[in-house]
Amino acid sequence: MHELSIALSLLDLITEECQKHGVERLKKIKVVAGELAGVVPEALKFSFEVVSEGTVAEGAELEVEVRPLQAVCQDCGAEFIIENMKFRCPQCRSRDLKRSAGDELFIDYLETAD
Ligand SMILES: [Zn+2]
Repeated sequence: MHELSIALSLLDLITEECQKHGVERLKKIKVVAGELAGVVPEALKFSFEVVSEGTVAEGAELEVEVRPLQAVCQDCGAEFIIENMKFRCPQCRSRDLKRSAGDELFIDYLETAD
């Protein structure tokens, strides 16, 4: 299961971050996932709930923001969101595109409980 391994690596990062800052309990975790990372938010939330049991993140709310796939046209410089995997510039119809967002996966912020 894809989400379970993502949940585990997120938990690793979170635990490390909390140890560094002496945080003992978290209230909220915000994660940003690009469309290409293929994360299903509900599945990730469920997996995270399971793996975070007994850790600093137990009971914390996990918010997952899925960001769309984006590209920059190498011909006219337009930046746009790619929908339905249509890799073509909406302005000049060029196919010479460079992906600018869509495969990222990172922790946006952690909110501590006090
Ligand atoms: Zn273009």
